[in-house]
Amino acid sequence: MTSDIQKRAVWQYGTPLYLYDLEQFRLKINKLRKHLFPQSGLFFSMKANPLPKFCDIAYRGRCGVEIASAGELSLSLSAGVKPEDIIFTGPGKTERELEQAIEAGIFIVNAESIQEIRKIQKIARKKERVVPIALRINPHERKGSGKVQMSGIASQFGIEEEDLTEPLFEEILSMPNISLCGIHVYMGTSILKAEEICENTEYVIQLGLRLANTYSFELTYLNAGGGFGIPYFPKERELDMKELDSGMKQLGNTYKSQLTGTRVYFESGRYLLAECGVFLIRVLYRKKSKGNCYLVCDGGANFHAASAFLGRFVRGNFPMYVLGKSGEEQEFYVTGPSCTPTDLIGQKVRLPKNTKEGDIIVIEKSGAYGLTYSPYGFLSHSLPMEIGYRGEEGFEILR
Ligand SMILES: *Cc1c(COP(=O)(O)O)cnc(C)c1O
Repeated sequence: MTSDIQKRAVWQYGTPLYLYDLEQFRLKINKLRKHLFPQSGLFFSMKANPLPKFCDIAYRGRCGVEIASAGELSLSLSAGVKPEDIIFTGPGKTERELEQAIEAGIFIVNAESIQEIRKIQKIARKKERVVPIALRINPHERKGSGKVQMSGIASQFGIEEEDLTEPLFEEILSMPNISLCGIHVYMGTSILKAEEICENTEYVIQLGLRLANTYSFELTYLNAGGGFGIPYFPKERELDMKELDSGMKQLGNTYKSQLTGTRVYFESGRYLLAECGVFLIRVLYRKKSKGNCYLVCDGGANFHAASAFLGRFVRGNFPMYVLGKSGEEQEFYVTGPSCTPTDLIGQKVRLPKNTKEGDIIVIEKSGAYGLTYSPYGFLSHSLPMEIGYRGEEGFEILR
């Protein structure tokens, strides 16, 4: 997205502002899909950004949608996604949420405990439905080096691999209103090594095949999660798509004959969307304190918590620059407007020396886990607009 477009958006809609390149999102979907397991399915993980437009684009790009609440169920349905293309994940699904999902007739519930499965059975019997489920599994071992590990460690997610015992399968397979279709393993987010994603995929395939053989159920669904990362910081390298491609093709060849009735699935939010969005804020005040130079801006942690290190394990700065300015640089502290010292979105960021009040700071890689992941109720500032951009169609207000 060019500076020109960013300038026009700011001029037209003001700041703070989220601006998304819609065409880039479409292209990212196609790119990822091309390098995955042969004939696999891809789900857009809605929690990365719940704007209906993204569901719509993902769906037109032949993605299903992965939801994690009843709210996301309604949003995705109203965006035109068919229930049979929706899967439902999450460790804390309430009875009401399960009822709604079952009522709608979604594709699969990724069930995270035996208690949840019993709940599903009860609801399904009442509604005289048979509900397809998959077991979300928390593997024995920690795998991979993702920044946010979500499996292979103690967590609230999934069923422990060591609890996958005969009595468990006997119980599940004897439930008349449950149809066990497969398994789901989500390793964690922000994985930048193709090799780890392939290893995890192979592990999921092997585990699924072993369970299906041992307990005699028809394996149609193998969800290998994803966790496809993007580089945020200078030292990080992009996910090597060639390596992903060859690893996946190899797996495809190895397991083709064993997976004739089985489809492999992946999920992605961050990889598909993060690089398609920027967050634009305006410098309200430039000031000095004890030798440090501060830029106080009209948006910060309240609208972009991730840039202020919330929930992050690396305290690196998000990539950012001053719109339309370059030249000699110096270090700045970039803050939002909130009355809390944690509203700091850049520490010792190198920006042009002559940055001044009124200038626009562009925070890149903000398309995923931006506003939706932020405590925007804090201090009650009015919400930033969210605008989509697509070539000749120009701007579209998304929210
Ligand atoms: C959050 C989440 C995703 C999406 O992760 P990304 O890193 O954004 O791709 C996928 N699956 C599950 C189960 C999740 O919780």
